[in-house]
Amino acid sequence: MGNKKGRVFSGARPTGRQHLGNYLGAIRNYVALQDEYDCIYCVVDLHALTTLSDTDKLHEWTYEMALDWLAAGIDPEQGTLVFIQSHVPQVVELHLLLSMVTPLGWLTRLPTFKEKVRQQPENVNYGLVGYPVLMASDITLYKADTVPVGVDQAPHLEITREIVRRFNRIFGEVLVEPQAKHTEFTKVLGIDGEQKMSKSLNNHIEIASAPDEIKRRVMEMMTDPARQYRSDPGHPEVCNVFTLHGFFSPGEVAQIGTDCRAADIGCVQCKQRLAENLAAYFAPFRERRAELAADPDYVWDVLAEGARRASEIAAVTIAEVKAAIGLP
Ligand code: SF4
Repeated sequence: MGNKKGRVFSGARPTGRQHLGNYLGAIRNYVALQDEYDCIYCVVDLHALTTLSDTDKLHEWTYEMALDWLAAGIDPEQGTLVFIQSHVPQVVELHLLLSMVTPLGWLTRLPTFKEKVRQQPENVNYGLVGYPVLMASDITLYKADTVPVGVDQAPHLEITREIVRRFNRIFGEVLVEPQAKHTEFTKVLGIDGEQKMSKSLNNHIEIASAPDEIKRRVMEMMTDPARQYRSDPGHPEVCNVFTLHGFFSPGEVAQIGTDCRAADIGCVQCKQRLAENLAAYFAPFRERRAELAADPDYVWDVLAEGARRASEIAAVTIAEVKAAIGLP
C-alpha cells in the first residue's frame, strides 16, 4: 500500500453486471477515492448468503461485477486491492471473536435488521443478525480508517465503531476505529421512475449494454406522468429522464429543461438524446471491458493477487487480536 491520506474499505455484494445506479451511487466514487487513499474494494460474497437463497449465480455475478469495476477505472496498478471476501478466511475468524464482545441487543434493534425480518420472515437466520459484526470484521481486519458512506448509511458504520470501542476498552487499543467519509451516494430511480434502480426489480440499465440495448431501455422509461400529449408543457423536475440528463448530458440539460417546460421537445426525442449520450459516455468503458474480458484469466488473477495482499494485512491483525484477547 502507498503513502496516502489513509486506508479506505468498501464492500459490495456480488450482483453481476452493474447498472447506472451502481455506477452513480458507488463505482465513480470508488474510482475517485483512489487518488487520495489506499483503497480496498471487496466483493462481499459471504454477506450475500444472508439473503440469497439461490447461490448458483455467485460465481458469474462476482466475475461480472469485478470486470465492470476494473473496466470503470478501479485500478490495481494504483495499489488498489480488489478481492473476494471469502478468499481471506481470517474475516470469519475475526467475525467470531468480535461477536463475543457484541451485545445481541445492539444487533436486533437495528432498523436494517428489523427491515430484513419484515422482508424475509421465513429466513431470519443467524447470519442475518450477525451481519453488522461481519461488516465490522471486514473493515477492521484491514485496518481501514475511512469508510465512504452516504448520509443515510452513517448508522451502518456506527455499529462498527461501537464494536471497535468496546473491543478496545476490554482488550486494549488494537483495532482501528474507522471514520465515515461522507460521499455523495446518488440514489438513482429505475426506468419505472418510482423505485430505486435495482437488478432484482428489473428496472435497471446496465452500463455495459450495447447502444441499441441502452436505447431500448431508455425508451421504456417513465417520464412526467402529467404530460399526456406532445403539446403539454412538461415538468422536468419530476422526470427521471431529466435527472439522468443532468449526469450524462451536462451541456444540454438546461436547454432540455427549458424546451420541456415550453413543450418544444417531445419525450421521444428527449429520450433519444439521453440514449445517445449514455452510449457515448460509456463507450470507452465498453471498449476497456471488452479488452479485459478477452483474457479470461485477467479478472481472476486480479482477485487472487488482491486476496494474497489482503491476507498479509489480515494475518497481522488476527495475530494482534488473539494476543490481546490472550488466546494461547
Ligand atoms: Fe422528461 Fe424530457 Fe419528457 Fe420533459 S421532455 S417530461 S424531461 S422525457
